[in-house]
Amino acid sequence: NVFKEGLTKTRTAFVEAVEELITRRKKIDEDFYEELEEILIGADVGVNTVMTLIDDLRAEVKKRKIEDAAELQPVLSEKLVELLKGDDHAELTMAPPGETTVILFVGVNGVGKTTTIGKLAHRFKSEGKSVLLAAGDTFRAGAIEQLEVWGQRVGVEVIRQASGSDPAAVMFDAVQAAKQRNVDVLLCDTAGRLQNKTNLMEELNKIFRVIKREMPNAPHEVLMVLDATTGQNALSQARLFGEKSGVTGLVLTKLDGTAKGGIVVAIRNELNLPVKLVGLGEGMNDLQTFDSVQFVHALFA
Ligand code: GDP
Repeated sequence: NVFKEGLTKTRTAFVEAVEELITRRKKIDEDFYEELEEILIGADVGVNTVMTLIDDLRAEVKKRKIEDAAELQPVLSEKLVELLKGDDHAELTMAPPGETTVILFVGVNGVGKTTTIGKLAHRFKSEGKSVLLAAGDTFRAGAIEQLEVWGQRVGVEVIRQASGSDPAAVMFDAVQAAKQRNVDVLLCDTAGRLQNKTNLMEELNKIFRVIKREMPNAPHEVLMVLDATTGQNALSQARLFGEKSGVTGLVLTKLDGTAKGGIVVAIRNELNLPVKLVGLGEGMNDLQTFDSVQFVHALFA
């Protein structure tokens, strides 16, 4: 199971707490539910989602006439999978063969955008695809260089201009280069500053327009990157950003760095956006396509 190692912290904190509760309380009663609620909220599943989950559990426990707490774990797994699944479509949307797939990355500074682009570039390269990166974060000092470090590491070229230049111009260059060279995948970084939010939205809109003018079917994905270690903050960022910027899916990074992996459940349940990828470490292989069944199995394994 590809998620298992990266979820060690969450498994240790969350599952061990549930197991302890089951062993100690033995019977499923009001006190049991109350404590379970606390554990789930502690794992960052989020109050609204916890309420839904507990209601689902109650109904199922009643239906199956379960009294013994020891029998609850499979039911909990089942309900978690249901919540995570929604209408699952974690696979990335790709252009038809022969055309360039354009993927735009948005999100606040430090969430792991550059790293995710590097990892994804590595994945596509290993699949035999040609990849080009666009250094669209011309605002943050060092962002371009950092993308170039990843470019060198995985062996793909970065289209860049000087720091401070117009990101839409960088995108124009990148799209032209991708067309000329018949590149399979173009991965585009964007600025993630939180201040001047309106300007950032305008900047993203301009980037969209430039890409669309050159490639009417692009971008194929707009992925918002969220840092799982920021918990409920990630959720509010997603709400703020996601509504306006044409986001098609989410990347949840640093799941290896948190004991509160329940944030995935909250995000999946409270936002109408699929979680496409999860980051489980800093290395270039530490990126996985999200899979709800595997994810829950990794927790309870
Ligand atoms: P950006 O500002 O959004 O481009 O963020 P970066 O890609 O520079 O990432 C910020 C930090 O988070 C870096 O130190 C990365 O190594 C680290 N990081 C990114 N993704 C992951 C992940 O999945 N797990 C862990 N542990 N660290 C990550």
